[in-house]
Amino acid sequence: MCTGAHVLEFLRYLDQFGKTKVHNQTCPFFGLPNPPAPCPCPLRQAWGSLDALIGRLRAAYEEHGGRPEGNPFGARSVRFYLREVRDFQAKARGVSYDKKRKEAQTKSRSSRRRRRSSSSS
Ligand SMILES: [Zn+2]
Repeated sequence: MCTGAHVLEFLRYLDQFGKTKVHNQTCPFFGLPNPPAPCPCPLRQAWGSLDALIGRLRAAYEEHGGRPEGNPFGARSVRFYLREVRDFQAKARGVSYDKKRKEAQTKSRSSRRRRRSSSSS
C-alpha cells in the first residue's frame, strides 16, 4: 500500500533531477530569482512541478477507483510538505507563486481535456 510517507520519499528522490536553483538561507543570493554569479546551492524540483505532479496523481488515483480518504497523494503530510516547499522556494527565489499557480492550473486542465478526447475512441 502506498502511503503519504512513500509519496514524500518519491518527491525527495525527484529533487536530484531538478533544474531550479533554490538558494540556502546562508547564500548571498538568497531571494534573488536570477543570481549574478554561480553559487553552490542545490538544484531542486520547482514547487510548481511537484504540485502539478501530485495533483495529477491524486486525480488519477481517484479515477481508478481509489477512495479520497485513502488517497496517499492527498495525505496531510504531502500537503504540508508541498506548502513548505512553496514557502521556502518563494523566499529563496524572491517570487510569489500565487499568479503562476493559476496559469499552471488552467494549462494542466486544458491538456487533460485534450488527452481525454484523444483517448476516447
Ligand atoms: Zn545560492
